[in-house]
Amino acid sequence: MHEYSVTKSLVDLCNQEADNNGFTKVYKINVKVGKFTGFSPDAIKFYFDYLRPDTKCREAKIIFDEVPIRIKCRDCGKENVIDEPLLLCPDCGKRNIELLSGREFYVESIEGE
Ligand SMILES: [Zn+2]
Repeated sequence: MHEYSVTKSLVDLCNQEADNNGFTKVYKINVKVGKFTGFSPDAIKFYFDYLRPDTKCREAKIIFDEVPIRIKCRDCGKENVIDEPLLLCPDCGKRNIELLSGREFYVESIEGE
């Protein structure tokens, strides 16, 4: 359910950005979402459909750019891209891991008129 609150913030932010840019409507929202966040693009789209009527985003399409989870092991120095948000080095099995990417969640840009 945490997608509801992030989607609400996303819609609020895009409406505000639309105001700042003098747009009357937004037609595209480019969102970066890191896989480590666990946010589901489908769930975000679902809540977005619910939240967008009567906003400047009512006709907007969300384009997700998913960022893979990249980790670096502080013990063996190897970098890996992993599918599951599990901070464990696939090479040596240690948990001394640095998360290089995957935690992103932000609106990269909006397009409107
Ligand atoms: Zn390692």
